[in-house]
Amino acid sequence: MTNSNNSIAFHQVTKKFGDQVVLDQLDFCVRKGEKVTIIGPSGSGKSTVLRILMTLENINAGTVYVDNEPLWHEYQAEQLVPASEAHLRQMRKKMGMVFQQFNLFPHMSVLRNITEAPMHVLGLSKQEAKERALAYLELVGLMDHKDKFPSQLSGGQQQRVAIARALAMRPKILLFDEPTSALDPELVGEVLQVIEQLSNQQDLTLLLVTHEMQFAKDISDRVCFFDRGKMVEEAPPQELFAAPKQARTRDFLANFM
Ligand code: ADP
Ligand code: MG
Repeated sequence: MTNSNNSIAFHQVTKKFGDQVVLDQLDFCVRKGEKVTIIGPSGSGKSTVLRILMTLENINAGTVYVDNEPLWHEYQAEQLVPASEAHLRQMRKKMGMVFQQFNLFPHMSVLRNITEAPMHVLGLSKQEAKERALAYLELVGLMDHKDKFPSQLSGGQQQRVAIARALAMRPKILLFDEPTSALDPELVGEVLQVIEQLSNQQDLTLLLVTHEMQFAKDISDRVCFFDRGKMVEEAPPQELFAAPKQARTRDFLANFM
């Protein structure tokens, strides 16, 4: 599991909510710089995988590694013990996440949405954070909107701000949870275009949950099909979409073709 090529590794991870097993002894890895898409039916545990990585949910059993370091555990006197808040804080800096519902701060301008975390978490000065924010706003094509509030933007624009906000923390790993699912169809393209641009960054590890199958095909090195808390099948997109090996994968894909 502590393979130095891995950016993310789930080793026999079980996650329960009450009696419900949501991740069932899951083994799942993403290599450094790899672009991986997770597909699967609603309730299969896709968001839970991302939420565990963002330390929004704890695990019941197994180990999660990020950059070859345990995420939910840490070593003390060579013993693996539950992670301290300080360890979690350190690990969180490696990752950024973009949610389905944008999750921008409604009472802050676009610019402040992006400068907050770099100032308060990374300790950048106001000027440094602003310069960095403007560079990422340029990248997502929203320089002209920097002084607006989220409610004054379209859903597609809000999601592009959310992407700029995540990028401003310079994460090694970027997680997307159905980033276009809440958007009107005509706004999906502009968000996918930004993500596609990011997928060309070799060093960036990208883990994306989406139902946009054509997009998954275009940008992923590997597609993983999840069902009932397990990874049922994984393959390069050409293979998985053209010739799925498992009946459950075929049934799921039949609804999208
Ligand atoms: P997906 O993203 O694949 O649709 P999720 O990871 O969101 O699936 O959820 C997997 C299962 O866990 C679902 O059955 C969901 O209802 C349940 N679940 C998720 N979050 C919670 C929670 N906070 N409390 C209770 N059950 C939850
Ligand atoms: Mg989900």
